[in-house]
Amino acid sequence: MASEHSIAGPQIVRLRGGCHLWQQSAGGWGMSNAGLIAGRDASLLVDTLYDLRLTARMLDGFAAVTARAPITTVVNTHGNGDHWFGNQLVEGAEIVASHASLADMRQVQPADMARLMAPETPSGRFARRIFGGFDFAAIRPVLPGRTFERELTLDIGGTCVQLIDVGPAHTAGDTIVHVPHARTVYTGDIVFAGATPVVWHGPFDNWVAACDLILGLGAETVVPGHGPVTTKAALHATRAYLEYVHEQASARHAAGMSPGEAARDIPLGSFADLAESERLAVNVHTVYRELDPDLTPLDGPQLFGHMADLACPRISF
Ligand SMILES: [Zn+2]
Repeated sequence: MASEHSIAGPQIVRLRGGCHLWQQSAGGWGMSNAGLIAGRDASLLVDTLYDLRLTARMLDGFAAVTARAPITTVVNTHGNGDHWFGNQLVEGAEIVASHASLADMRQVQPADMARLMAPETPSGRFARRIFGGFDFAAIRPVLPGRTFERELTLDIGGTCVQLIDVGPAHTAGDTIVHVPHARTVYTGDIVFAGATPVVWHGPFDNWVAACDLILGLGAETVVPGHGPVTTKAALHATRAYLEYVHEQASARHAAGMSPGEAARDIPLGSFADLAESERLAVNVHTVYRELDPDLTPLDGPQLFGHMADLACPRISF
């Protein structure tokens, strides 16, 4: 199926202290980053990509580095497929994730993507539009063999790498990968550079606390889960979006609006330039669940249906 996501143009960005970024061309839905932290004779890979073609291309791109410092460890930052569906291609490496992320991975597997995209509904059409260019058919789910809670420090060929689970926030478990000597942090989807944060899980205040925790690390280089390398300014921007949406959605909850009405009513203001603004529909629903724990959580197709509704005026199916 034709895709709006071209795989032409991914690039390696060399950062300080043996850190690298594989930045896919466009960012956007499913177009995640991967990172490579190279020590003396071993490397740690931060995330694999959404399908085997994209992951193979990324591993080829890093080959000049991994020939000297092979990948011994893979960290999956969280349970969304665009950060782990390529795991099967990294043979022989130990795969690490937080305990909460592993539970998420067991919930949504590659076969579920076909079920999400198949229906002739607004939700199915929207899912095909954003995910139809990926190939989920041949993926064999390979789950992490090692899990941790809260923090884990690793020695990767003489380089100290700290894993910190700052979730639940974007998902049930969100690991950041901190390389102190390089003053670099890989944030996973705690930061979407240039795009709208999506709060699948929450709570919002825990994501805000995660931003503060990362700011407190003193890193100068911030590698987001999607989009270009950035700085701590992106953490302030993420925090500002989350606080704004929480405040705006809470006011509309108090006024008796439904989540759908609230999402259509909230002006994006200074956040209007962020890509994938339809994620507001998910974010408002998450605020409503925080305010009303009895509210039934929506499943994947329902959430994509609400995003399709919100995106409708701007997207022709
Ligand atoms: Zn992602």
